[in-house]
Amino acid sequence: MNDNLFESFRMRFPQDPRAVVMEIPGCRQYRYADLDRDSAMFALRLSDAGANPGDRVMVQVEKSLEAVAVYLACLRAGFVFIPLNTAYGREELEYLTADASPAAVVCDPASHLAAADFPYSAPCGTFTLDCDGLGSLTKGAREVAKDLETVPCRGEDVAAILYTSGTTGRAKGAMLTHANLASNAVALCDCWGLSDSDVLLHALPIFHTHGLFVAINTTLLQGGQMLFLPRFDVEQVLSVLPRVTVMMGVPTYYTRLLNDARFDKWACRSIRLFISGSAPLLPETFEEFRRRTGHAILERYGMTETNMIASNPVDGDRTAGSVGYPLPGVAVRICGEDGTALADGQIGNIEVRGPSVFKGYWRNPEKTNAEFCEDGFFKTGDVGRFDSNGYLHIVGRSKDLIISGGFNVYPKEVEEVVDRIDGVGESAVIGVSHPDFGEGVVAVVVPDRTRAGELTVGEVIAEARSRLAAFKTPKAVVFVEELPKNAMGKIEKAKLRSAYNDLFS
Ligand code: ATP
Ligand code: MG
Repeated sequence: MNDNLFESFRMRFPQDPRAVVMEIPGCRQYRYADLDRDSAMFALRLSDAGANPGDRVMVQVEKSLEAVAVYLACLRAGFVFIPLNTAYGREELEYLTADASPAAVVCDPASHLAAADFPYSAPCGTFTLDCDGLGSLTKGAREVAKDLETVPCRGEDVAAILYTSGTTGRAKGAMLTHANLASNAVALCDCWGLSDSDVLLHALPIFHTHGLFVAINTTLLQGGQMLFLPRFDVEQVLSVLPRVTVMMGVPTYYTRLLNDARFDKWACRSIRLFISGSAPLLPETFEEFRRRTGHAILERYGMTETNMIASNPVDGDRTAGSVGYPLPGVAVRICGEDGTALADGQIGNIEVRGPSVFKGYWRNPEKTNAEFCEDGFFKTGDVGRFDSNGYLHIVGRSKDLIISGGFNVYPKEVEEVVDRIDGVGESAVIGVSHPDFGEGVVAVVVPDRTRAGELTVGEVIAEARSRLAAFKTPKAVVFVEELPKNAMGKIEKAKLRSAYNDLFS
């Protein structure tokens, strides 16, 4: 039995090899036969260069059809796929190549990795692949392409090392096995009722769990189809939406659609399901979306280390502000600081165990040990609670928890109040050092420019004070044009904390 994830995909490839797997609207169609041929070709090219099963292949390329074939090439040849954020510059790349020491590198010609003076040189070579799928990886390879037996793998073999988003610190390499990825894709297909007749709108980056595993693995496991957009562009999304049945996005995609008056019920007439994840979906967005389109966005929760953990149901109530039930086969518990399990309703650390939870951090056994409990549960670093209906609610990250005057303040609770104030666009609540309270609560606010009249600090504080305990009420309010967010739309609170660290001193 071969547990290589590629075999699970290949078994579900449509009978007709001319079936389209990905389409760049108005530009190119990529058939299952193309994906099969190109992934074999890339696998052979890298093998010919000396890469062996188990070797690491680091990939920093722009989103393209061929980039997906490189991912499949690594799977089928048994290489460990290491995709990197395209925004990473020289310094990050120096750290990551030293950390991962890949046998081969595939990169965009403009990547620092391709520069002649880049300090890391991969033993099997550095190949280029540009956004049109051209470069030294493809050059001359088409002629030598032949069929390729999928390399046998065990479920516990590492398929990919994915670096976390680096929202809370330096990105960590999470080792994900073939079985981790396969089990999660199966669970999601089941949970969301995906089938080969679904057409997925894919506008996400493909170096991150969301766009890579959640979107692509589920599609390939069903023999489905994706409309593949280089990035999220409202104009382009509106024009292709009538051909789509499922959309996956980060919350900002949905707020940007709502900001366009053309986005209405008619625009989403062919859609079966809107799915959101990677960052919290504001209840206001959920409600406005429902009013405008009749659709309740399905929010789900996961992370690089665990794959997807919980999801709202396809049939049944989708609750605003909640990430739904644990996925089948995934155990989720809420624990106190001393590690004891807490009762429903209580807020604590979210811990997870199941077949999709990663094998450990790459070259970091100390961190792996520190983040796993003895009974195999992984400490997510997120804080949350279960409600009486068994729905999980994320309250925030433990690193973002504020302790002010000895009391715990969960930023999300304050953000929800601040966001509802007339004239507030969005907010981020952080704790910074305070001479009397240890930490003082600070609300960083992006004003809603459509409101007449200027929003004042006094107004925000007075409104918050009327609804929250004094120790939770912001002691300072800062107005900004926009909040710092990373490629996945996550607010970078560490940046805010360092920017306002001296506010009370
Ligand atoms: P790093 O671990 O490097 O600091 P990161 O945690 O942002 O970065 P990812 O693995 O990409 O890296 O993100 C997972 C995190 O995203 C989760 O731990 C959680 O905090 C957040 N997240 C994902 N989905 C949701 C959601 N639906 N609601 C709230 N938060 C979410
Ligand atoms: Mg994380």
